[in-house]
Amino acid sequence: MLNIVIFGPPGAGKGTQSEKLIDKYNLKHISTGDLFRWHTSNDTELGLKVKEIMNNGELVSDDITIAMLKEEVEKNEGAGGFLFDGFPRTVAQAKALDELMKEMGTKIHHVVELKVSEEEVKKRIAKRRELENRMDDADEKLIKRIDEYFSKTVHVLPYYAKQNRLSTVNGIGAIDEISKEIIKVLDK
Ligand code: ADP
Repeated sequence: MLNIVIFGPPGAGKGTQSEKLIDKYNLKHISTGDLFRWHTSNDTELGLKVKEIMNNGELVSDDITIAMLKEEVEKNEGAGGFLFDGFPRTVAQAKALDELMKEMGTKIHHVVELKVSEEEVKKRIAKRRELENRMDDADEKLIKRIDEYFSKTVHVLPYYAKQNRLSTVNGIGAIDEISKEIIKVLDK
């Protein structure tokens, strides 16, 4: 079994890299953002609860997020491994994930940080805005999510670094080059 966490700010290219990894290693992709979006677009009880929080670009509470994640993992117990994307975003979530993996007789083997600076991701948005000549609502929300990442989510990194489970890959460059770097880390 191979269980990976992919980490990085909005706009770092996590989605693109995740696609490649799930194919190569036959992993079940679990993105808490996608799960929450499924709930909000289907107006489930959970979706109604988190809609406003998500719209504001804020983090959903640990209780709700962890419960949803657990359910999804348990539903896929037969998977060859998991790629967690967008989770954990807090140290409490990281600890809960370790517990869950332990209960399943496995662990998180690698945490890959796709490193792109706050400046760079904001530059990417600004560039797009210039091209499209507008600053829309979606951009403002995106900026809020970027702020949440650099003020809150990054605090999870030292948790994994202390346990020597963190590998950092430069997220600026050609997509295939970045993939190669990630694969190098995973095959080590
Ligand atoms: P991004 O594109 O910013 O990386 P995601 O698609 O991963 O965002 O998540 C979208 C939204 O879903 C977040 O802004 C947050 O409101 C909520 N969310 C997703 N994952 C988590 C999590 N692990 N903890 C708390 N909230 C989360």
